[in-house]
Amino acid sequence: MFQQLLEQLYPTQTTLVAVSKTKPNSDILDLYEQGQRDFGENRVQELCQKYETLPKDIRWHEIGHLQTNKVKYIAPFVHLIHSVDSPRLLKEINKQALRSERKIACLLQFKIAKEDSKYGLDIETARQLLRDVYPSLEAVSIRGIMGMATFTDDEQKVRREFRKLKTIFDQLKRDFFADDDVFKEISMGMSGDYPIALEEGSTMIRIGSLLFGPRD
Ligand SMILES: *Cc1c(COP(=O)(O)O)cnc(C)c1O
Repeated sequence: MFQQLLEQLYPTQTTLVAVSKTKPNSDILDLYEQGQRDFGENRVQELCQKYETLPKDIRWHEIGHLQTNKVKYIAPFVHLIHSVDSPRLLKEINKQALRSERKIACLLQFKIAKEDSKYGLDIETARQLLRDVYPSLEAVSIRGIMGMATFTDDEQKVRREFRKLKTIFDQLKRDFFADDDVFKEISMGMSGDYPIALEEGSTMIRIGSLLFGPRD
């Protein structure tokens, strides 16, 4: 499946983030040996353990809801945080980035599904954040946005939600990042819906079960 996915992604240069949550180091090394370097985790403790015990050239992506009091553990090494869902969290990431003397790349997570359980910003809060908060944060770099579609067999619904995310990206790009080439990522698409996400403009897909098998 890994090689097939890479072939599918090659024409569009989409980044594959292999979501290794709950999976052992041996599964990660198996893909690592085939050249994969981007891996995603949602739990901070698991992410830190894996960072400490696996090759140092792995690019670790934090994709799950992140509590502000845990940012300090991943700030020294995290490659990209996909799940910035509040101004407060972005400020804390900035603070911990300064302490680690690095700049941390982030994506703003948007709530595009109707389900209440999903975290994410709404467009107004995001605009406020980009206008009033972000300009004074020198140690974070917003690279784009992320979202999760509703878990459903209804392809049209999933497509509409991805399209909404793409529209949000285009509007923010126009209004806040017109001259900024680093704002370019749309992290959307998982095992069940990534083909639709690719058609709707994804630049980064997050694939777990399709690569590693089902989770318990
Ligand atoms: C677990 C997870 C994924 C991967 O899910 P699969 O359906 O196994 O591909 C992607 N994104 C987020 C935010 C996740 O928590």
